[in-house]
Amino acid sequence: MLQFDYTALPGRVVFGAGVARRELVAEFDLLDAHRVLLVATEREEPLARELAAPLGDRVVAVFSSVRQHVPLAIAEAARALATSVSADAVLSIGGGSTTGTAKAIALTTGLPIVAVPTTYAGSEVTPVWGLTERARKTTGVDPRVLPRTVIYDPELTLSLPADLSAASGLNAMAHCVEAFWAPGRNPISSLAAEEGIRALAAGLPVVHDTPTCLSARSDLLYGAYLAGSAFAVAGSGLHHKICHVLGGAFDLPHAQTHAIVLPHVLAFNAPDAPDAARRIAHALRVADPVVRLREMSAHLGIPAGLRDLGLREEQVDEAAAQVETSVPPSNPRKTDRATLRELIRAAWAGTDTTAVLAATTTSKE
Ligand code: NAD
Repeated sequence: MLQFDYTALPGRVVFGAGVARRELVAEFDLLDAHRVLLVATEREEPLARELAAPLGDRVVAVFSSVRQHVPLAIAEAARALATSVSADAVLSIGGGSTTGTAKAIALTTGLPIVAVPTTYAGSEVTPVWGLTERARKTTGVDPRVLPRTVIYDPELTLSLPADLSAASGLNAMAHCVEAFWAPGRNPISSLAAEEGIRALAAGLPVVHDTPTCLSARSDLLYGAYLAGSAFAVAGSGLHHKICHVLGGAFDLPHAQTHAIVLPHVLAFNAPDAPDAARRIAHALRVADPVVRLREMSAHLGIPAGLRDLGLREEQVDEAAAQVETSVPPSNPRKTDRATLRELIRAAWAGTDTTAVLAATTTSKE
């Protein structure tokens, strides 16, 4: 019999090709915001300025010193700018790092965010913030950082290079897969996750082969929205805890790290999460979801192992030690330092995690 609790998250979503160019002013009118701080990376700044042009002098400042994983000093500089120009809203145009910077501003100022994502990170629909200080990433949940409005425009993702699209889309896939066993999972987040996997699996190969295909871009962005929504409610499980440590402590690139680690964690957990494995397989339309994810990653040109991203073998131990303290008790399969070391080592080397399965106990019972 069903038993669950579920807190639905608020937020307005506007989805469609061309909406970023057409709807921005109307969305700020809805918020009654007149002093907008625009946040974008240096690379995306020209595009962001072009999109924000219809807002005219309602854009009172631009913050472009965005960095991955939001270093605390960057967050403080962005907050200081927001305060000095008396901003009453933040417009974030960019990937997860840009959204993360906007969230850092909202966390201390309470300013509303209008997020226009240009990758498939999904951060724009979560109340999760992240900050990095002295090589340690801290995350937290606060409703103030949840964007009030998200404008999803697949046209903006056409410029995302094929390799980044693949990694970012697989990052979204990881949100969906992990949503089946993360601590806050419930039937609604699982529905979103299953449909997200289906949309992402449909869009990823097409975008890889034809990055200019707008309908495949739309599939991916829709999948990314569902992935972020599922993750927002279900929360972080083993996979996200591992990637969080690898990004924060070793500065590995976020999306590629997720893409590499995902099949390993699924292979590790699947024997003790048969319902999740069945639903993931169903959404991917295959018998073995681990094999399918591995094949998909290879086809999309994702590097085989974390060593290809610059992780050194001797850092595997340190990563396992940091992950050990944060694995949720709800993880379907028991973990300890040794199993985590083997799991992360397999992801480092790009070898088969079934070797880890054979070498350790497989049940929490
Ligand atoms: P990112 O924002 O760092 O962007 C990666 C690169 O892509 C950057 O160089 C950026 O300039 C470029 N880029 C972005 N959009 C582009 C486009 N349309 N065309 C061309 N280039 C483009 O990477 P990301 O993977 O989107 O986000 C990663 C960050 O997001 C991490 O810090 C991660 O922790 C965070 N994140 C947070 C949550 C959350 O819920 N808080 C969820 C997912 C990710």
